Amino acid sequence: MLFRTANFLLILLFQPVLLPTLSAQSEPLLRNSVASVVKKAALQEHVQTLASEAYLGRSGKACEKTRAYLERHFKDLGLEPAFQEGTSYSQRIFAPGTLAGTGAPRVLGRNVAAKLIGSDPKLKDEVIILSAHFDHLGVVEGVLYPGADDNASGVSMLLEAARYFAKLPEKSRRTIYFVGFDLEEVGLIGSTYFAENLPFEESKLKLFITADMIGRNAAGLSRNSLFVCGSEYARPLRTTLRDSAEAQSLTISYAGADLIGPRSDFAPFWQREIPFLFFCNGLHPDYHAPTDTVDRIDFEKLTRVTELIISALQTWSDEDTLPDWHAPESDLEEIRTGRRVLANLLAAPHQFQLSSTQMMMVKQIDLMFASIEEKGTFSPQERQSLIQLGTMALKMLQTFPLR
Ligand SMILES: [Zn+2]
Repeated sequence: MLFRTANFLLILLFQPVLLPTLSAQSEPLLRNSVASVVKKAALQEHVQTLASEAYLGRSGKACEKTRAYLERHFKDLGLEPAFQEGTSYSQRIFAPGTLAGTGAPRVLGRNVAAKLIGSDPKLKDEVIILSAHFDHLGVVEGVLYPGADDNASGVSMLLEAARYFAKLPEKSRRTIYFVGFDLEEVGLIGSTYFAENLPFEESKLKLFITADMIGRNAAGLSRNSLFVCGSEYARPLRTTLRDSAEAQSLTISYAGADLIGPRSDFAPFWQREIPFLFFCNGLHPDYHAPTDTVDRIDFEKLTRVTELIISALQTWSDEDTLPDWHAPESDLEEIRTGRRVLANLLAAPHQFQLSSTQMMMVKQIDLMFASIEEKGTFSPQERQSLIQLGTMALKMLQTFPLR
């Protein structure tokens, strides 16, 4: 995940708190009764493997092993290679210009992807992308950055989703691409290159989905909640999101993509006004730290999030029509997200080291959120002032030092 802009909701929603977040075991395990589709053990195995020392933090040359891992998985599932007319699972990411002296093209990295052609004669020409970046920070001054949550968790979801759809007796009606992006940590290079060099016509792309850090619980939010950005540009997607979330006893906290900025692989598709969804549990104290380790992953939650994404994708890959891009409107869901976070702050002031003044401030902001929620709508200006107020409040709070 790439750090760009900061504002109140960003800070509150995505801020790594130095104190432990609500401990995973403190909340009862809310799991639906439907037989689980995804095997927790399979997710665990992917995360343990990719975050292990042998994968050297998945950066630079060390990424070769990770790419081979994804390719092998796709091949074993019998999924078709996505590139070069179905002959290659990997896409070389060329840098502008050539190597000095040799004039040879400079290859920065490689994306890895497979496709599942749709079964419907018409809808197979419509494409949905499910993706996750597989690179991380590597070994820095001899210290390993395992990146268990960032983003071995997202890759594990991608691989088990690929298994689910590859094994479906009745194939999905639309075509699905399963894409592992390289070079996300160094400026979204892999996803940007992919968006500029799609292995199909851009007009066929109906929905782009990416998950980045879905194995933990963020500061201020419970283990039964996760963030989704982007649905403000294709609101009808929320119906399926809600149903899939409820089935997993998960609550979706919607946040506008403009609140966090272009900080993960959805950005190149956002720019192209292609409907997108970004799944994330938010930041935590181990973000981009050597402590982002496997033992801190909430595999119960990761399993539920993976099932949520699979069941929603199954609906979208089979329904007759998918929503088109539309301009965002004022979105009470954002207010509800803000209130959910504020409620957790207010519920555990000790955990966030909030002084009485800060508590007052948070209460004030919550009152403003509440009045807007009651009013039922808010103007773009109100939204902007709310965000500015929040940013100001945070500067004053100075509670959570930015990493
Ligand atoms: Zn990431």
